[in-house]
Amino acid sequence: MKSILNRTIVSAAAIAALGAVAEPSGDRPDATHAWSVHDPNRPIPANVVAEPGRPPSDAIVLFDGSQESFTANWNDAKRKDKAPRWTVADGIVTCGGATGASTKEDFGDCQLHIEWRIPENLVRGTDNSGNSGVMFLDGCYEVQIFDSHNVEPSHSLWKPGNYADGQAGAVYGQNPPIVQPCRKPGEWQTYDIVFHPPYYEGKRLVDPGSVTVFFNGVLVQDSFPFQGRTGWRHRFPHEMKSAGPIVLQNHGSPVSFRNIWLRKIPSRFADTVNGGPGVKQGDVAALRHKLAGESLKLADETSDPAEKYIRLWESYCYEPDRNTEAKIKAAEAAAVAAYTENKGTMADKDRRAAFARFVNMLVDGRWMSQTSPVKMAL
Ligand code: MG
Repeated sequence: MKSILNRTIVSAAAIAALGAVAEPSGDRPDATHAWSVHDPNRPIPANVVAEPGRPPSDAIVLFDGSQESFTANWNDAKRKDKAPRWTVADGIVTCGGATGASTKEDFGDCQLHIEWRIPENLVRGTDNSGNSGVMFLDGCYEVQIFDSHNVEPSHSLWKPGNYADGQAGAVYGQNPPIVQPCRKPGEWQTYDIVFHPPYYEGKRLVDPGSVTVFFNGVLVQDSFPFQGRTGWRHRFPHEMKSAGPIVLQNHGSPVSFRNIWLRKIPSRFADTVNGGPGVKQGDVAALRHKLAGESLKLADETSDPAEKYIRLWESYCYEPDRNTEAKIKAAEAAAVAAYTENKGTMADKDRRAAFARFVNMLVDGRWMSQTSPVKMAL
Protein backbone atom coordinates (compact mmCIF):
# COMPACT_ATOMS: atom_id res chain seq x y z
CA MET A 1 0.00 0.00 0.00
CA LYS A 2 2.86 2.35 0.72
CA SER A 3 3.81 2.14 -2.94
CA ILE A 4 0.43 3.60 -3.83
CA LEU A 5 0.04 6.11 -1.08
CA ASN A 6 3.72 6.96 -0.94
CA ARG A 7 4.32 10.11 1.12
CA THR A 8 0.72 10.72 2.13
CA ILE A 9 -1.31 8.10 3.93
CA VAL A 10 0.47 5.00 5.08
CA SER A 11 -2.08 2.85 6.84
CA ALA A 12 -5.71 2.39 7.65
CA ALA A 13 -4.94 2.98 11.29
CA ALA A 14 -3.31 6.32 10.51
CA ILE A 15 -6.31 7.37 8.41
CA ALA A 16 -8.75 6.35 11.09
CA ALA A 17 -6.76 8.29 13.65
CA LEU A 18 -7.04 11.39 11.49
CA GLY A 19 -10.73 10.82 10.88
CA ALA A 20 -9.88 11.04 7.18
CA VAL A 21 -12.02 8.43 5.48
CA ALA A 22 -14.37 8.65 2.55
CA GLU A 23 -15.61 7.98 -0.91
CA PRO A 24 -13.36 10.38 -2.83
CA SER A 25 -15.83 12.40 -4.90
CA GLY A 26 -15.24 15.48 -2.78
CA ASP A 27 -14.62 16.26 0.86
CA ARG A 28 -14.75 13.02 2.75
CA PRO A 29 -17.18 11.51 5.19
CA ASP A 30 -16.27 12.14 8.78
CA ALA A 31 -17.68 11.36 12.18
CA THR A 32 -20.87 13.32 11.45
CA HIS A 33 -21.25 12.91 7.66
CA ALA A 34 -21.78 9.47 6.15
CA TRP A 35 -21.62 10.78 2.59
CA SER A 36 -18.85 12.62 0.85
CA VAL A 37 -19.56 15.85 -1.01
CA HIS A 38 -21.09 14.93 -4.42
CA ASP A 39 -21.20 11.26 -3.41
CA PRO A 40 -22.48 9.29 -6.43
CA ASN A 41 -23.88 6.55 -4.19
CA ARG A 42 -26.15 8.94 -2.29
CA PRO A 43 -29.83 8.23 -3.05
CA ILE A 44 -31.46 10.55 -5.57
CA PRO A 45 -34.60 12.33 -4.23
CA ALA A 46 -38.01 11.06 -5.32
CA ASN A 47 -39.62 12.88 -8.23
CA VAL A 48 -42.63 15.09 -7.50
CA VAL A 49 -44.86 16.58 -10.19
CA ALA A 50 -45.42 20.29 -9.57
CA GLU A 51 -47.72 21.92 -12.13
CA PRO A 52 -48.60 25.63 -11.94
CA GLY A 53 -51.64 26.25 -9.76
CA ARG A 54 -51.99 22.62 -8.70
CA PRO A 55 -50.99 20.82 -5.51
CA PRO A 56 -47.72 18.90 -5.84
CA SER A 57 -48.24 15.21 -6.57
CA ASP A 58 -47.20 14.20 -3.05
CA ALA A 59 -49.57 16.64 -1.32
CA ILE A 60 -52.49 15.71 0.91
CA VAL A 61 -55.41 17.77 -0.38
CA LEU A 62 -57.35 18.94 2.67
CA PHE A 63 -59.95 20.92 0.73
CA ASP A 64 -60.45 20.87 -3.03
CA GLY A 65 -63.63 22.96 -3.13
CA SER A 66 -66.06 20.09 -2.66
CA GLN A 67 -68.27 19.26 0.31
CA GLU A 68 -66.90 15.72 0.10
CA SER A 69 -63.31 16.75 0.70
CA PHE A 70 -64.28 19.10 3.53
CA THR A 71 -66.35 16.40 5.22
CA ALA A 72 -63.60 13.82 4.70
CA ASN A 73 -60.81 15.91 6.21
CA TRP A 74 -62.28 18.25 8.82
CA ASN A 75 -64.00 18.01 12.20
CA ASP A 76 -65.40 20.53 14.60
CA ALA A 77 -62.44 21.93 16.53
CA LYS A 78 -64.14 21.57 19.93
CA ARG A 79 -66.25 18.44 19.43
CA LYS A 80 -63.94 16.30 17.36
CA ASP A 81 -66.62 13.70 16.61
CA LYS A 82 -68.87 16.30 14.94
CA ALA A 83 -68.76 17.99 11.56
CA PRO A 84 -67.98 21.71 11.65
CA ARG A 85 -70.93 24.03 11.03
CA TRP A 86 -69.12 25.67 8.16
CA THR A 87 -70.60 26.29 4.72
CA VAL A 88 -69.22 24.90 1.48
CA ALA A 89 -70.42 26.67 -1.66
CA ASP A 90 -68.94 27.64 -5.02
CA GLY A 91 -65.66 25.88 -4.28
CA ILE A 92 -64.97 27.71 -1.04
CA VAL A 93 -65.65 27.02 2.61
CA THR A 94 -66.73 29.74 5.01
CA CYS A 95 -66.42 29.86 8.75
CA GLY A 96 -69.77 29.36 10.51
CA GLY A 97 -71.28 28.31 13.82
CA ALA A 98 -69.22 29.14 16.87
CA THR A 99 -66.21 26.87 16.57
CA GLY A 100 -63.24 26.27 14.35
CA ALA A 101 -62.51 23.48 11.92
CA SER A 102 -59.92 20.90 12.80
CA THR A 103 -58.19 18.38 10.53
CA LYS A 104 -59.09 14.79 11.33
CA GLU A 105 -55.47 13.79 10.91
CA ASP A 106 -52.60 14.88 13.14
CA PHE A 107 -49.66 16.62 11.51
CA GLY A 108 -46.20 17.55 12.69
CA ASP A 109 -43.53 18.87 10.32
CA CYS A 110 -45.30 20.09 7.20
CA GLN A 111 -45.63 22.52 4.33
CA LEU A 112 -49.12 24.02 4.17
CA HIS A 113 -50.73 26.00 1.36
CA ILE A 114 -53.98 27.80 2.12
CA GLU A 115 -55.92 30.62 0.48
CA TRP A 116 -58.19 32.86 2.53
CA ARG A 117 -60.50 35.80 2.08
CA ILE A 118 -61.93 38.29 4.51
CA PRO A 119 -65.46 39.55 3.62
CA GLU A 120 -65.52 42.64 1.44
CA ASN A 121 -68.28 44.30 3.45
CA LEU A 122 -66.36 44.07 6.67
CA VAL A 123 -66.45 47.23 8.75
CA ARG A 124 -63.20 47.68 10.53
CA GLY A 125 -63.45 47.19 14.24
CA THR A 126 -66.99 45.82 14.14
CA ASP A 127 -66.73 42.42 12.50
CA ASN A 128 -63.81 41.16 14.49
CA SER A 129 -61.79 42.54 11.59
CA GLY A 130 -61.62 39.22 9.79
CA ASN A 131 -60.04 37.44 12.72
CA SER A 132 -59.20 33.84 12.01
CA GLY A 133 -55.92 31.94 11.97
CA VAL A 134 -54.04 28.83 10.96
CA MET A 135 -53.24 26.97 14.15
CA PHE A 136 -50.84 24.06 14.40
CA LEU A 137 -50.76 21.27 16.99
CA ASP A 138 -54.44 21.66 17.91
CA GLY A 139 -54.29 25.38 18.55
CA CYS A 140 -50.82 25.67 20.12
CA TYR A 141 -49.21 27.87 17.46
CA GLU A 142 -51.20 30.42 15.46
CA VAL A 143 -50.33 32.20 12.26
CA GLN A 144 -52.82 35.03 12.46
CA ILE A 145 -55.44 35.91 9.84
CA PHE A 146 -56.78 39.45 10.15
CA ASP A 147 -57.68 42.50 8.09
CA SER A 148 -54.29 44.17 8.08
CA HIS A 149 -54.49 46.07 4.79
CA ASN A 150 -53.11 49.57 5.28
CA VAL A 151 -53.95 49.65 8.97
CA GLU A 152 -53.16 52.98 10.61
CA PRO A 153 -51.58 52.62 14.03
CA SER A 154 -53.79 54.18 16.69
CA HIS A 155 -51.96 53.37 19.90
CA SER A 156 -55.42 52.86 21.38
CA LEU A 157 -56.18 49.87 23.54
CA TRP A 158 -59.81 50.03 22.44
CA LYS A 159 -59.33 49.89 18.70
CA PRO A 160 -58.79 46.31 17.65
CA GLY A 161 -56.26 45.24 15.12
CA ASN A 162 -53.56 47.75 15.73
CA TYR A 163 -51.02 45.77 17.66
CA ALA A 164 -48.23 44.49 15.48
CA ASP A 165 -48.08 40.95 16.87
CA GLY A 166 -51.79 40.51 16.10
CA GLN A 167 -51.65 41.44 12.42
CA ALA A 168 -52.08 39.04 9.53
CA GLY A 169 -48.89 37.05 9.06
CA ALA A 170 -47.94 37.41 12.74
CA VAL A 171 -47.03 34.52 14.97
CA TYR A 172 -49.82 35.61 17.25
CA GLY A 173 -48.62 37.43 20.34
CA GLN A 174 -44.97 36.70 19.55
CA ASN A 175 -43.67 38.04 16.29
CA PRO A 176 -45.11 40.58 13.81
CA PRO A 177 -44.68 39.91 10.11
CA ILE A 178 -41.43 41.30 8.67
CA VAL A 179 -43.53 43.41 6.28
CA GLN A 180 -47.28 43.65 5.71
CA PRO A 181 -48.39 42.48 2.22
CA CYS A 182 -52.07 42.10 3.18
CA ARG A 183 -54.58 42.80 0.39
CA LYS A 184 -57.96 44.46 0.75
CA PRO A 185 -60.92 42.62 2.30
CA GLY A 186 -62.74 40.74 -0.46
CA GLU A 187 -59.51 39.73 -2.20
CA TRP A 188 -58.01 36.25 -1.99
CA GLN A 189 -54.73 35.90 -0.14
CA THR A 190 -52.29 33.02 0.26
CA TYR A 191 -50.19 31.58 3.01
CA ASP A 192 -47.43 29.12 2.25
CA ILE A 193 -46.19 27.92 5.60
CA VAL A 194 -43.35 25.64 6.69
CA PHE A 195 -44.01 24.41 10.19
CA HIS A 196 -41.65 22.49 12.47
CA PRO A 197 -43.01 21.44 15.86
CA PRO A 198 -40.88 21.59 18.98
CA TYR A 199 -38.54 18.62 19.27
CA TYR A 200 -38.14 16.74 22.53
CA GLU A 201 -35.81 14.06 23.76
CA GLY A 202 -37.74 12.53 26.59
CA LYS A 203 -39.08 15.54 28.45
CA ARG A 204 -36.18 17.78 27.40
CA LEU A 205 -36.98 20.48 24.85
CA VAL A 206 -34.17 20.20 22.31
CA ASP A 207 -35.60 22.62 19.73
CA PRO A 208 -38.55 25.03 20.11
CA GLY A 209 -39.82 24.43 16.57
CA SER A 210 -40.26 27.19 14.03
CA VAL A 211 -42.47 28.65 11.36
CA THR A 212 -41.68 30.18 7.98
CA VAL A 213 -44.51 32.05 6.24
CA PHE A 214 -44.79 33.39 2.71
CA PHE A 215 -47.80 35.75 2.67
CA ASN A 216 -48.99 36.44 -0.88
CA GLY A 217 -45.53 35.21 -1.93
CA VAL A 218 -43.72 37.59 0.44
CA LEU A 219 -41.58 36.23 3.26
CA VAL A 220 -43.07 37.46 6.54
CA GLN A 221 -41.77 34.86 9.01
CA ASP A 222 -38.27 33.49 8.57
CA SER A 223 -37.83 30.27 10.57
CA PHE A 224 -39.16 32.08 13.64
CA PRO A 225 -38.50 29.92 16.71
CA PHE A 226 -41.61 29.57 18.87
CA GLN A 227 -41.25 31.11 22.31
CA GLY A 228 -43.96 28.86 23.69
CA ARG A 229 -47.60 28.20 22.89
CA THR A 230 -49.14 31.29 21.29
CA GLY A 231 -52.03 33.07 22.96
CA TRP A 232 -53.74 36.27 23.93
CA ARG A 233 -52.01 38.72 26.28
CA HIS A 234 -49.68 36.21 27.90
CA ARG A 235 -46.53 34.20 27.31
CA PHE A 236 -47.27 30.52 27.64
CA PRO A 237 -44.97 27.49 27.92
CA HIS A 238 -44.84 24.80 25.24
CA GLU A 239 -47.24 21.87 25.65
CA MET A 240 -44.97 18.87 24.98
CA LYS A 241 -46.70 18.02 21.68
CA SER A 242 -44.98 16.98 18.48
CA ALA A 243 -48.06 16.50 16.30
CA GLY A 244 -51.71 17.43 16.30
CA PRO A 245 -54.59 18.63 14.13
CA ILE A 246 -54.39 21.86 12.17
CA VAL A 247 -57.18 24.17 13.27
CA LEU A 248 -58.71 27.02 11.30
CA GLN A 249 -59.81 29.49 13.92
CA ASN A 250 -63.39 30.72 14.17
CA HIS A 251 -63.35 34.11 15.88
CA GLY A 252 -66.84 35.12 14.75
CA SER A 253 -65.81 36.60 11.43
CA PRO A 254 -67.02 34.84 8.24
CA VAL A 255 -63.60 34.23 6.70
CA SER A 256 -63.52 31.93 3.65
CA PHE A 257 -60.90 29.40 2.53
CA ARG A 258 -60.03 27.46 -0.60
CA ASN A 259 -57.25 25.30 -2.08
CA ILE A 260 -55.90 23.82 1.13
CA TRP A 261 -53.13 21.26 0.75
CA LEU A 262 -50.30 19.99 2.85
CA ARG A 263 -47.09 18.06 2.40
CA LYS A 264 -45.61 16.09 5.26
CA ILE A 265 -41.90 16.88 5.45
CA PRO A 266 -39.11 15.23 7.41
CA SER A 267 -38.19 16.51 10.83
CA ARG A 268 -34.89 18.37 10.82
CA PHE A 269 -33.90 15.83 13.46
CA ALA A 270 -34.77 12.81 11.30
CA ASP A 271 -31.53 12.86 9.30
CA THR A 272 -29.07 11.22 11.65
CA VAL A 273 -26.24 10.70 9.16
CA ASN A 274 -25.49 14.03 7.52
CA GLY A 275 -24.30 16.60 10.01
CA GLY A 276 -27.69 18.17 10.82
CA PRO A 277 -29.07 18.86 14.28
CA GLY A 278 -30.17 15.23 14.70
CA VAL A 279 -26.85 13.65 13.70
CA LYS A 280 -25.83 10.51 15.61
CA GLN A 281 -22.26 9.34 15.23
CA GLY A 282 -23.29 5.72 15.77
CA ASP A 283 -25.68 5.95 12.81
CA VAL A 284 -22.97 7.57 10.68
CA ALA A 285 -20.53 4.79 11.47
CA ALA A 286 -23.17 2.12 10.79
CA LEU A 287 -24.07 3.57 7.38
CA ARG A 288 -20.43 3.94 6.40
CA HIS A 289 -19.86 0.31 7.32
CA LYS A 290 -22.85 -0.73 5.20
CA LEU A 291 -21.70 1.37 2.22
CA ALA A 292 -18.19 -0.04 2.50
CA GLY A 293 -19.64 -3.56 2.40
CA GLU A 294 -21.79 -2.81 -0.65
CA SER A 295 -18.83 -1.38 -2.58
CA LEU A 296 -16.71 -4.36 -1.59
CA LYS A 297 -19.41 -6.72 -2.86
CA LEU A 298 -19.50 -4.91 -6.22
CA ALA A 299 -15.70 -5.16 -6.36
CA ASP A 300 -15.87 -8.90 -5.76
CA GLU A 301 -18.58 -9.40 -8.38
CA THR A 302 -16.93 -7.61 -11.29
CA SER A 303 -14.27 -9.12 -13.51
CA ASP A 304 -13.40 -5.72 -14.98
CA PRO A 305 -10.05 -4.70 -13.44
CA ALA A 306 -10.64 -0.92 -13.61
CA GLU A 307 -14.08 -1.13 -12.03
CA LYS A 308 -12.81 -3.52 -9.38
CA TYR A 309 -10.06 -1.07 -8.48
CA ILE A 310 -12.48 1.86 -8.20
CA ARG A 311 -14.96 -0.11 -6.09
CA LEU A 312 -12.21 -1.21 -3.72
CA TRP A 313 -11.10 2.37 -3.24
CA GLU A 314 -14.70 3.42 -2.74
CA SER A 315 -15.09 0.85 0.01
CA TYR A 316 -11.82 1.84 1.63
CA CYS A 317 -12.82 5.48 1.72
CA TYR A 318 -16.06 4.71 3.54
CA GLU A 319 -14.28 2.47 6.00
CA PRO A 320 -10.52 1.95 6.06
CA ASP A 321 -9.89 -1.74 6.45
CA ARG A 322 -6.61 -3.65 6.23
CA ASN A 323 -8.11 -6.40 4.09
CA THR A 324 -9.46 -3.85 1.61
CA GLU A 325 -6.11 -2.10 1.64
CA ALA A 326 -4.44 -5.36 0.64
CA LYS A 327 -7.01 -5.94 -2.10
CA ILE A 328 -6.35 -2.47 -3.55
CA LYS A 329 -2.66 -3.21 -3.75
CA ALA A 330 -3.33 -6.60 -5.38
CA ALA A 331 -5.68 -5.05 -7.95
CA GLU A 332 -3.39 -2.16 -8.88
CA ALA A 333 -1.29 -3.81 -11.58
CA ALA A 334 -4.32 -5.14 -13.46
CA ALA A 335 -6.01 -1.73 -13.36
CA VAL A 336 -2.88 -0.03 -14.73
CA ALA A 337 -2.64 -2.65 -17.49
CA ALA A 338 -6.31 -2.25 -18.42
CA TYR A 339 -5.86 1.51 -18.69
CA THR A 340 -2.61 1.50 -20.67
CA GLU A 341 -3.73 -1.31 -22.99
CA ASN A 342 -7.33 -0.05 -23.52
CA LYS A 343 -8.81 -3.31 -22.25
CA GLY A 344 -12.35 -3.99 -20.98
CA THR A 345 -14.23 -0.84 -19.93
CA MET A 346 -11.05 1.16 -20.52
CA ALA A 347 -11.58 0.75 -24.26
CA ASP A 348 -14.45 3.22 -23.91
CA LYS A 349 -13.45 6.90 -24.10
CA ASP A 350 -15.97 8.10 -21.52
CA ARG A 351 -15.14 5.35 -19.06
CA ARG A 352 -11.43 6.11 -19.44
CA ALA A 353 -12.14 9.75 -18.64
CA ALA A 354 -14.22 8.76 -15.60
CA PHE A 355 -11.44 6.48 -14.37
CA ALA A 356 -8.92 9.30 -14.75
CA ARG A 357 -11.20 11.70 -12.86
CA PHE A 358 -11.52 9.19 -10.05
CA VAL A 359 -7.79 8.70 -9.77
CA ASN A 360 -7.23 12.45 -9.86
CA MET A 361 -9.75 12.88 -7.06
CA LEU A 362 -7.77 10.40 -5.00
CA VAL A 363 -4.66 12.44 -5.67
CA ASP A 364 -6.43 15.75 -4.95
CA GLY A 365 -7.69 14.29 -1.69
CA ARG A 366 -4.14 13.20 -0.84
CA TRP A 367 -5.17 9.57 -0.79
CA MET A 368 -2.73 8.79 -3.55
CA SER A 369 0.65 10.20 -4.50
CA GLN A 370 1.33 12.07 -7.74
CA THR A 371 4.00 9.43 -8.43
CA SER A 372 1.84 6.37 -7.79
CA PRO A 373 1.78 3.85 -10.67
CA VAL A 374 -1.92 4.46 -11.39
CA LYS A 375 -1.54 8.23 -11.53
CA MET A 376 1.59 7.91 -13.66
CA ALA A 377 -0.34 5.71 -16.09
CA LEU A 378 -2.94 8.41 -16.87
MG1 MG B 1 -56.79 34.76 15.11
